[in-house]
Amino acid sequence: MLRGAALRVTRPRVAVLNAVHAHPHADTDSIIGAVRRELPKVSHQAVYNSLHALTAAGLVRRIQPAGSVARYESRAGDNHHHVVCRSCGLVADVDCAVGEAPCLTASDDNGFSIDEAEVVYWGQCPACSTADNS
Ligand SMILES: [Zn+2]
Ligand SMILES: [Zn+2]
Repeated sequence: MLRGAALRVTRPRVAVLNAVHAHPHADTDSIIGAVRRELPKVSHQAVYNSLHALTAAGLVRRIQPAGSVARYESRAGDNHHHVVCRSCGLVADVDCAVGEAPCLTASDDNGFSIDEAEVVYWGQCPACSTADNS
């Protein structure tokens, strides 16, 4: 994947990519934890730099729901959306309803050429809604 994106293959990049694949929507701290299980001596900065390079190359997608820290996932480029739990912050994927961006037609585009609608669904995850009702 790295070579396909014309990125130099380094051990931190490979480890970060593996961690993002294994833990969709993980935040930076969890990714550092996962990478250190593979490369115990990797620095925070190396992980940040790798995340930045992978995101810029389009191999990793960075999302940041309101009130949340940045999270990363390997499912990039398919315009899927997210549903976020208001109670515990759990994030799950929701396939794009239309299949391509922008999946939501603006009622007035103000003359812009619109290429994306950022859709975030908010609610309660099954575990939190069950806990509230008991
Ligand atoms: Zn929840
Ligand atoms: Zn996702």
